[in-house]
Amino acid sequence: MTIPVLALTDLRKSYGRHEALKGISLTIAPGEIVGLLGPNGAGKSTLFQIASGLFAPDGGEARLFGLSYRDKSSEILRRLGVVFQSRSLDLDMSVRANLRFHGNLFGLSGKLLAERIERAAEIFEVTDLIDKPVRTLSGGNQRRIEIVRALLNLPDLLLMDEPSVGLDPTTRKLLGEHIRTVRDIHNVSILWATHLVEEVEHADRIALIIAGRIVMTGTPAEIIAASGASNLNDAYIALTGVKPGETEAGSSAQVQA
Ligand code: ADP
Repeated sequence: MTIPVLALTDLRKSYGRHEALKGISLTIAPGEIVGLLGPNGAGKSTLFQIASGLFAPDGGEARLFGLSYRDKSSEILRRLGVVFQSRSLDLDMSVRANLRFHGNLFGLSGKLLAERIERAAEIFEVTDLIDKPVRTLSGGNQRRIEIVRALLNLPDLLLMDEPSVGLDPTTRKLLGEHIRTVRDIHNVSILWATHLVEEVEHADRIALIIAGRIVMTGTPAEIIAASGASNLNDAYIALTGVKPGETEAGSSAQVQA
C-alpha cells in the first residue's frame, strides 16, 4: 500500500472548554486534491494549523509520509507549502524580492532559485508581474504570487486555507485551473480548506467537516449521490443543514460515510 502523503488520525483540539476538533481522521494520497469543505466555525483552520505544523493537537496524530509531526517537525516543514488565509506578502517589495526572500529561507539561491521562480510563475501566468511592487497588484494576483511562493521548495503537500476568499468568480475559477495544472506537473498533493462549494467541485475528493467532525468523505459525485441531490450545492445543504456561506451555529448534522 502507498504511504499517504498526509495521515491525520483521531485529531482532537480544544480551546478552553470548546472542542474545535473532535477526533478527525483523514488521509491524502500522492497527487490528490482534497477539498476540506465546511461552514465557518467547523474547525477547518484548526485542522489546517495542525497540518501546517503551527501547533500540536491535544490528542491523535499527524504524519507526513509516515514521519510524525511530533518528532520530525523541521523536516516536515521543509516539505510543506503553505498559503494562509490572510495576505502575507511584503507590499513595499517587488514580487521577485518577496519570492527570493522566501526561497532563501528554504536554502535556495542563485540560478536554481531563479529557475524555480520562473517555472512557477509561468504556471500561474504571472511572469510579467515579477518586477512590479506587490502593492500595485490586484488581490487575485497577490494570491497567485503567494501560491507561487509556496511552491518554490517543491513541496510534497500544498496547504491552502480559503485561498480564494474575496476574489471574483472568474479569478477563483482560474485559481482552481492553475492549481490542477501544478498538481499535474509536480504531482503535489493539495489540501484546500474552504466554505465555498464551488471551490471543491473539481477536487478529487471532498471531506465534509461539521462541528469538529468529518461527517463524510468522497468524490464530488459520491457526495451528490449520497445526498440524493442533483448538484453539489444542494448536496452540501442537504448533508450539513447549512446554506453555503452561513456559519454552522446550531448545526448538528451527522452523516455516515
Ligand atoms: P473554521 O476555519 O472552519 O471557520 P476554526 O478552526 O477557525 O473553524 O474554529 C473552530 C471553532 O473553534 C470555532 O467555534 C471557533 O470559534 C473556535 N476557535 C478557533 N480559534 C480559537 C481560539 N484561538 N480561541 C478560542 N476559540 C477558537
